[in-house]
Amino acid sequence: AVSGLKPQLGGNAEYEKLELAKLTALLGYEDNARQAQAFAIKNTEGETDHSTYQAMEALIHNLNTMHSRAGAQTPFSSINYGMDTTPEGRMVIKNVLLATEAGLGHGETPIFPIHIFRVKEGINYNPGEPNYDLFQLACRVSAKRLFPNFSFVDAPFNLQYYREGHPETEIAYMGCRTRVIGNVYDKTRQITNGRGNLSFTSINLPRLAIESHGDEKLFFEKLDAMMNLVAKQLSDRFEIQAKKRVRNFPFLMGQGVWIDSEKLRFDDEVREVLKHGTLSIGFIGLAETLVALYGHHHGENAEMQQKGLDIIRHMREFTDAMSEKTGMNYTLLATPAEGLSGRFIRLDKKKYGLIPGVTDKEYYTNSFHVPVYYRISAFDKIAKEAPYHALTNAGHISYVELDGDTCENLEAFETIVRAMHDAGIGYGSINHPVDRDPVCGYNGIIGEVCPQCHRHEGDNGVGFERIRRITGYLVGTLDRFNNAKRAEEHDRVKHGIRRD
Ligand SMILES: [Zn+2]
Repeated sequence: AVSGLKPQLGGNAEYEKLELAKLTALLGYEDNARQAQAFAIKNTEGETDHSTYQAMEALIHNLNTMHSRAGAQTPFSSINYGMDTTPEGRMVIKNVLLATEAGLGHGETPIFPIHIFRVKEGINYNPGEPNYDLFQLACRVSAKRLFPNFSFVDAPFNLQYYREGHPETEIAYMGCRTRVIGNVYDKTRQITNGRGNLSFTSINLPRLAIESHGDEKLFFEKLDAMMNLVAKQLSDRFEIQAKKRVRNFPFLMGQGVWIDSEKLRFDDEVREVLKHGTLSIGFIGLAETLVALYGHHHGENAEMQQKGLDIIRHMREFTDAMSEKTGMNYTLLATPAEGLSGRFIRLDKKKYGLIPGVTDKEYYTNSFHVPVYYRISAFDKIAKEAPYHALTNAGHISYVELDGDTCENLEAFETIVRAMHDAGIGYGSINHPVDRDPVCGYNGIIGEVCPQCHRHEGDNGVGFERIRRITGYLVGTLDRFNNAKRAEEHDRVKHGIRRD
């Protein structure tokens, strides 16, 4: 009988020729052999596709149900993809997207993994490119499920590391923004795998501004002093981490996950391996900082944008100089401000009282973002925030808020993603309402009444699920988030997409 498996999904001309000869000998007629072969190819492809879908479905289900993090939480997971143009790679990408679109049981939106679709000219950005269909599918799935987010390999600060045929040089983002690729410790290995962020500490920029009472020079002096303090703290912390041994990290080091850890013995210090990691200085509340110093934020005018860029560029120059001086990877982070945004402002409100535009809310604005309450078009927001992506090499993200059912307007959705690419954004995502009725399984936008089964919110004591993105992660209810984050979500204005 005929044996052996078809080696791959494409480019099997040679193999098929040999197989056809064998089949012809077996069946007696070449016509019959051809028919049998065509049947086999069609079916094996279909079956492989189906099995791949099931594997991707299992992956997503496992990542949403495996409570292995601290014994009670699902692990925070992120996957980056979009660049593989082989038939096998395309099959995986297509199916992980389709499984995400389908959702979990009863159509629930999966919370994990965070999907990040890499956009690149020549691969998937323009019609006619090999993975353009997958980019469009990614837009469709994101319009329904809030993931994937989009990363942009063409942004100059990402493109500088990219080498064709080396997937480890394609930019990868983790979760809500973390980015690790540059490597001053070993410039031959500026790659994304086998490395990570070791620790980050965030600076309360608005406090420095409040204490400077409008004195710009004083503000920069305070900023320098604070950055020096943080750099020293990161270095002290590194010393503690570096003294650990392989046996303290049986998975990360013992299994060779980190670069070069496979060269270490069980009782060796992990110092040299950890030097590939990054030490990051973060910041929150650029908008409030500018208001405290100059009376306006960077969303309001071009002059404030320049002032904002001056501050963040100054911080980046500091981390670059620290890297140069120490040979360690100091990087600048646009902090997501999960717990900090509320904590910092609470402390400052107590200490300095209510300052209009600065401490008169429940949260400081996320990193360099234009404030969520400020009315601005999607395109202007993208243009304002893009230059900060180039400066924040430890990670960044920009969001656009859309209203209505984005599934009904995929063209607008894609237009925004393209605008991010063209503006030099590194990592971006689009927020929009995603509601679900757990009773009938309806997915979409639900007001007071479910459009499918017509029941009211709270009937039978069951509310509607309203999936929202809070600091990068999807949540079905805001109850377990702190008040600051709930207030921030409440204040978000939608961004218009009309160009004028
Ligand atoms: Zn319903």
